[in-house]
Amino acid sequence: MCYRPQTERMFKQHIQVDAEVCVLCGRCVELCPRNALGADTEGIVVDDALCVGCLLCEMRCPMQAISHINQRLF
Ligand code: SF4
Ligand code: SF4
Repeated sequence: MCYRPQTERMFKQHIQVDAEVCVLCGRCVELCPRNALGADTEGIVVDDALCVGCLLCEMRCPMQAISHINQRLF
């Protein structure tokens, strides 16, 4: 597979949390290396300005409540 960094930079992962599936265990909030996740009255919220799209939260959520979409930047 050919790696083309100029293409990679055109996209950013946008993290989504399914509030119907999330059990508010807090694991993703603890794991996030950027402190981009927090909880409010609506459930888990993502700060897009801090998130770097590492997908650690998605991989480690025990409920598979987290997913991502590739957001085109330009
Ligand atoms: S790890 Fe999953 S279930 Fe736990 S708080 Fe985060 S999104 Fe919710
Ligand atoms: S993708 Fe990485 S940086 Fe973004 S919220 Fe999840 S763990 Fe944090």
